Amino acid sequence: MPYGGEVTDRSVTAQQYGQFLIDVFEEWVRHNIAEVYVQMFDVALANWYMVHLLRQNRAPSEVMRLYATRDQEWQALLAKTGRNNPCPCGSGKKFKHCHGRDQS
Ligand SMILES: [Zn+2]
Repeated sequence: MPYGGEVTDRSVTAQQYGQFLIDVFEEWVRHNIAEVYVQMFDVALANWYMVHLLRQNRAPSEVMRLYATRDQEWQALLAKTGRNNPCPCGSGKKFKHCHGRDQS
């Protein structure tokens, strides 16, 4: 991920962050990246965003509430991933050998 290191200690407004997402998303769409990679990217971006919020000294309760929302989306993503598909966490393993292990 080339994006994480470049924005770490700068504060970014919500509008700038939104524009950042749009720019990145359009770039990915333009290159016709497969859906699974977009999902992986989304998870990576969500994790980066949590770190970003914590570095801005946002209240942990607020960050955790956002994280709970993301977790619901993550669970929904797990629920629709096939057992023989690559795990959406980006490990490169099959889902059934990674986060899919405890799902039946
Ligand atoms: Zn996994």
